[in-house]
Amino acid sequence: MSQAEIGLIGLGVMGSNLALNIAEKGNKIAVFNRTVEATRKFYAEAGELKGQIVPCETIEEFVAAIRPPRPIIIMIRAGEAVDQQMEILKPYLSKGDIMIDAGNANFRDTMRRFDALKDSELTFIGMGVSGGEEGARHGPSIMVGGTEESYRRVEKVLTSIAAKYENDPCVAWLGENGAGHFVKTIHNGIEYADMQMIAEIYGILRDGLKMSAAEIGEVFGTWNKGRLNSYLIEITEKVLKAADPLTGKPIVDMILDKAGQKGTGKWSVIEAQNLGIPATGIEAAVAARSISSMKEEREAAEKILGLPPVGEFTVADREAFIEDLENALLAAKIGAYAQGFAVMSAASKEFGWNLPMPTIAKIWRAGCIIRSQFLDEITTAFTKAPDVANLIVTPAFAAMVKETDGALRRVVSAAVLGGLPVPALASALGYFDSYRRGRGTANVIQAQRDFFGAHGFDRVDGADSHHGPWGSGLNA
Ligand code: NDP
Repeated sequence: MSQAEIGLIGLGVMGSNLALNIAEKGNKIAVFNRTVEATRKFYAEAGELKGQIVPCETIEEFVAAIRPPRPIIIMIRAGEAVDQQMEILKPYLSKGDIMIDAGNANFRDTMRRFDALKDSELTFIGMGVSGGEEGARHGPSIMVGGTEESYRRVEKVLTSIAAKYENDPCVAWLGENGAGHFVKTIHNGIEYADMQMIAEIYGILRDGLKMSAAEIGEVFGTWNKGRLNSYLIEITEKVLKAADPLTGKPIVDMILDKAGQKGTGKWSVIEAQNLGIPATGIEAAVAARSISSMKEEREAAEKILGLPPVGEFTVADREAFIEDLENALLAAKIGAYAQGFAVMSAASKEFGWNLPMPTIAKIWRAGCIIRSQFLDEITTAFTKAPDVANLIVTPAFAAMVKETDGALRRVVSAAVLGGLPVPALASALGYFDSYRRGRGTANVIQAQRDFFGAHGFDRVDGADSHHGPWGSGLNA
């Protein structure tokens, strides 16, 4: 039997679908899973793709089934499991073999793994894969980090399995070592913000305008035909219109309001803070998930504090307000994406990656969870101005911000006055308002810092008095 051209370890949700995708595109693949039953089940259910798949029950058998030099995708639980799996695998590998971690790794782990193998005969690729189960099976967005040479060796198979946006494959080499996993992390951070903003708008429609789930679903359905057209808006419509098989009620009304998180949102925020770049939309979204998980505390607080005593939520013109909500969501989304790209731009400098912003936007247009028409507009903006300081000052996005931020202001004001929490939407407004203001208020902070800590300050007139006239003894 001819050898496989690629191997994959980990036949969980993502790995099994990715393996079927690889096999379907005409690539012969060897597969292995720690628990043998999963391999047997996977193969038994592989149908007409069986001929392209070599199921292996031991690591020795698995490695021997792949033609050297071997590309091996590791798609298992992120973290320590990956280190353990790599250690198990290493003794069987030989010169030129590539281990590809395709899970949701912290990019700092990827850097460490890459460095550990740098002087060996083996190579390491850290590869972010987005699109969930469906994407893995039919075309994910793939963000690759490692040496460019190692990417070229797997480019053909990755291109064959990646999602396509108007025939353009959503896969690219983005830079050395941790670049791919960093970009995947920020992708997920933006996804957190996108989802939270949608949830806040849903909250205004549900608790402010008192609309039913099905009615709100209609609104999202209409928006999905316009500028907000995206996978997340599309699934939100579907989620809102789905019925609970047990009660017949809208399923969304039966789902507990406690959101889970696995870490990529938090990592985005931590790295943004490390780099000194504001990512307030992502921060608000991560914090909102944390507050959501404090269900019992929130219920207790509602008993003590009550809901804000604001009376009825009123809007003068319901139709116009719903149109404002659409534009507000678009404006806030622009803020979150601008922040995400700014974080990547700073990281690119910090880690010497030379991240290609237009390419990142391009490979997010299809396959991944945040896929949307909007990302095509970002691609165009960054192609025209690859080194721009911030997405919102590109001509196209500046025009969009100017057109929609009034709606965002009205929506945030209405929500705040109506006692409805909109931390992510409000964060976008605060971001625009501070980013666009040439003269801010940090002069007071600098004065305070100089007063109590003699930190000094720069003057607006450039004169060289760097301390204030606070007087001795005042700054104790
Ligand atoms: P699953 O929980 O479905 O599968 C986990 C897999 O990891 C199983 O094959 C399991 O093997 C294996 N595994 C766990 N621990 C070890 C170990 N110590 N050594 C060897 N194998 C181990 O996970 P997913 O497929 O959902 O996720 C896999 C990776 O993909 C994760 O990093 C995840 O974050 C990432 N990812 C997931 C997405 C999703 O939508 N689900 C989207 C994008 C990325 P066994 O059968 O023996 O337990």
